[in-house]
Amino acid sequence: MKVLKFGGKSLDNGLGIATVLDIIIDSYEQGDAPVVVVSARGKSTDALLALVERARRGEAFDEDLACFWAHQGEGLSLSFEEEQRELDRLLTGISLLRECSPRLEDALVSYGEILSSKYVAEALRSRGYSAVAIDSGDFLVTDDHFGSASVFTEVSRERCQALFSRLPSGTIPIVTGFIARSEAGERTTLGRNGSNYSAALLANFLGASIMENFTHVDGIYTANPTLVPEARKIDELSYADAAELSQFGADILHIKTIEPLEERGIPLRVLNTFSYGEEHNGTLVTAHPRDRVVRALASLTGKALIHFEGRNMLGRPGIDARIFRAFESAHVSVSMVAQGSTERGTAIVVDEGDADRAVTALHEEFKQDLHEGLTTKIYAEKGLAVVAIIGLNLVEFDRPYRALVRNRILPILLSNSVPENTLCLLVKGEEECVKALKVIHGELFERPKRIHLAIIGHGTVGGALIGQIIQQRELLREQKHIDLRIFAIANSRQLLLAPTGVGEQWEEELQQAPFTGDLAETLIAYGQRHALENMILVDNTSSVAIASSYPLYASNGFDIVSSNKKANIAPYADYAHLRSTLQRHRRSYRYETNVGAGLPLIDNLKLLHLSGERITRIHGLFSGSLSYIFNRLSQEPERSFRSIVEESARLGLTEPDPREDLSGEDVVRKVLILVRELDVPAELSDVSWENPVPESLRSLSLQDFWERFGELEVEIERRRQALNSDEVLRYVGDIIWDDVRQEATLTAGLRAVSSSSPLGRVSGADSCFEIYTESYGSQPIVIQGAGAGASVTARGVFGDVLRLAEGYES
Ligand code: ASP
Ligand code: MG
Repeated sequence: MKVLKFGGKSLDNGLGIATVLDIIIDSYEQGDAPVVVVSARGKSTDALLALVERARRGEAFDEDLACFWAHQGEGLSLSFEEEQRELDRLLTGISLLRECSPRLEDALVSYGEILSSKYVAEALRSRGYSAVAIDSGDFLVTDDHFGSASVFTEVSRERCQALFSRLPSGTIPIVTGFIARSEAGERTTLGRNGSNYSAALLANFLGASIMENFTHVDGIYTANPTLVPEARKIDELSYADAAELSQFGADILHIKTIEPLEERGIPLRVLNTFSYGEEHNGTLVTAHPRDRVVRALASLTGKALIHFEGRNMLGRPGIDARIFRAFESAHVSVSMVAQGSTERGTAIVVDEGDADRAVTALHEEFKQDLHEGLTTKIYAEKGLAVVAIIGLNLVEFDRPYRALVRNRILPILLSNSVPENTLCLLVKGEEECVKALKVIHGELFERPKRIHLAIIGHGTVGGALIGQIIQQRELLREQKHIDLRIFAIANSRQLLLAPTGVGEQWEEELQQAPFTGDLAETLIAYGQRHALENMILVDNTSSVAIASSYPLYASNGFDIVSSNKKANIAPYADYAHLRSTLQRHRRSYRYETNVGAGLPLIDNLKLLHLSGERITRIHGLFSGSLSYIFNRLSQEPERSFRSIVEESARLGLTEPDPREDLSGEDVVRKVLILVRELDVPAELSDVSWENPVPESLRSLSLQDFWERFGELEVEIERRRQALNSDEVLRYVGDIIWDDVRQEATLTAGLRAVSSSSPLGRVSGADSCFEIYTESYGSQPIVIQGAGAGASVTARGVFGDVLRLAEGYES
């Protein structure tokens, strides 16, 4: 069973009421067994209250009354004769007496809901459904606090269940919201916007699976959208936060709505009638919302601060008790209290309308103390407003607070309620309240983390990366609140600068931006001039010069992400210098793509090593390009080595000059980079390696090399002939680390491996790394996957950028 509740605007003539009927019918047809709760239609409640006011002042109300009736029966053959007579009688009475008691007002205003339920029931009947209007006064029993009565839940529950059990099955009940009866049977109401509360009670009594609250807005917002246009809809909210919000007069929910739902774990969905049928989920309120942090802002204007000042309050017990007793007898409810630890005074926030009464009550209570000078001052400061941040973790408050101060808003009072995580700020007046809402909203909800990237090198990897970033930008902003801005793109001859980020036309713009100066100096100065936060240098070149400027970048506020290996294969002294510089300036340097392209190798290796796991050997195919070449060769033994190398070059798997890969030098570099991760201060010269390219071909031009390629083929063929039948050729990198002796054996070369071993079975351009550690024994950790190609490498670089970005403070 579902409870469907419809607000006044939804029920208004036209699109609203038509859609409401569709919603009810759809729900009924789907077998939801809907129980419908309705508010008064349109602004009927306000119209009735206005009529009361006119009558009370003795003004003519006939015209307004006629206007009221004109809207009530529209489109149906309902005459409401009895109700018309009754309203006439009540208003005439008020007009004669020039007085309207709360009791009479409730009797009168209840017609809004009565007419509404009758209207909806009749409209459904005219569409062929069996529907019945139910007056909630027939089961909701309250005290006689007219205007905002309290419900006696137990009797109400019993009566409600009894009444509903008697309903013929298949009937759709259309129940009035807002109204009830006292024990003596007199009409009462539950307070403005009370229909939500009625619906929640009904859901509780009848054990509904959900309460769907159809309104005229898309859900609950992070702030009132009419005050803060940037407010966003909240997808999911906890009962606690929703209840807090309702305290602040979020007019969608009556203050008491949440409790009956929470008690029985009934979810509440706030939906928009006017977008029914469209993809839209409104706001779901449950015990355990999916979103980790949901915050919302609310505000209340028309507050006053009562100042109570005195001397020697310290050590005089009972003063607070007397203050609150005075308030109690004057019916003043208190919303915030502040007292300094020196007890020079107390400050209490109350509704503005209660302020004078509060001051009078205090003067009365402290007459003697005032006379003796113990109490020095009691006065009210009016025209204040409370801004509440709901669901705020206090550690996050520093930023909004700084922003408030920057905007010259100094809260008069701050008060923090611990279990609900609500922080209330008392500010001066309505204008300041709206400004405070906007400032806080901006800080908490609108500010994506801005990350400023300077990308150097836009060859295959750099170009792919820029493309990927531009493509993902919107999504990252929306889902991760990360705003990636490429503020600079550079190569050896050009530099494009854009403080708010380059656009899709960056390639053409770069063409027109020649540059000859000092790149590092220029970028550093530019970042400072534009006060760019979270700057990352992304190096996709293979330049030694750029790698050697990393320390300069690091000491000037840049983090570094690099696919360039040069800094990591530099002489160990430089390698160590970069690391100490990074540490001193608390900067990060990520280079996951240096080995194994996008594979998560270096991160894992670092973790293993840091966690104290002793790594004894890293062995495998460190080059995706060589992996491709040699596993093609073993899989297609008939094919010429030349055609395989040509194909790899064509696929972009090798460098334009394939000797750079075939030589094995790249594997040597990777061996060095990996062993240095284990804190071994090795140098390139410590790796003993084999270059399969014959000496005679190494210094030839590329064209001559291709002409004499046969000499390399002879060499490869010779190696192939020497294999056993179950062996294949692989270019293998190997690090053997003896922790006790502190000795590393570093090699790289063509090896015969068993075709059934992991290295023998690798396919495509996969790299494969076997990491042997002490606790894993003879079972290595194997990391394997695409180890070459511009787009996987670019993804890897992007991953490094995002990992850095996640660590930044927003
Ligand atoms: N009709 C009542 C009001 O306008 C109750 C409600 O709509 O929830 O306050
Ligand atoms: Mg309403």
